[in-house]
Amino acid sequence: MAKMKKKQQNEKLYCPYCGGLAVLRPAEYVYGERNLNPDNYLYVCSGYPSCDSYIGVHKKSMRPMGTLANGDLRHKRIEAHRALNKVVQAGIMTKHGAYIWLQNRLCLREKDMHIGMFSEYRCEETIRECNTLMEQYAKTNRSSSCEKKIMAA
Ligand SMILES: [Zn+2]
Repeated sequence: MAKMKKKQQNEKLYCPYCGGLAVLRPAEYVYGERNLNPDNYLYVCSGYPSCDSYIGVHKKSMRPMGTLANGDLRHKRIEAHRALNKVVQAGIMTKHGAYIWLQNRLCLREKDMHIGMFSEYRCEETIRECNTLMEQYAKTNRSSSCEKKIMAA
């Protein structure tokens, strides 16, 4: 607890589910033995564990990575991250490019383009956009390899 930065302690964050005040706590408060990094902190709803809602904290600034999320929303945000990573891994875009593309697709302002702040709806839109892009990409790749075969014949 010695490492806690007092400066950021004033920031008030409320739980969107129960309205409770979120409290900055070491990650092991939630993860227990599964906690991998003792330096990690979370903003946890004061109603936890009956209200299962929390958000990770940026290490250096100790600021929340987004809004508090319950189990369903945490899962959706992980899926949205995964969908976007797939686009990057497929080599369609750079990570930076993918974020700009998604921001435009979802008509978001730059400051709102954080998956940690996304609602379930926005996560679903992200997954849908990424999947559509991946399908288009797969199609163009298929046709171009067909063309190559024809050219070679
Ligand atoms: Zn709560």
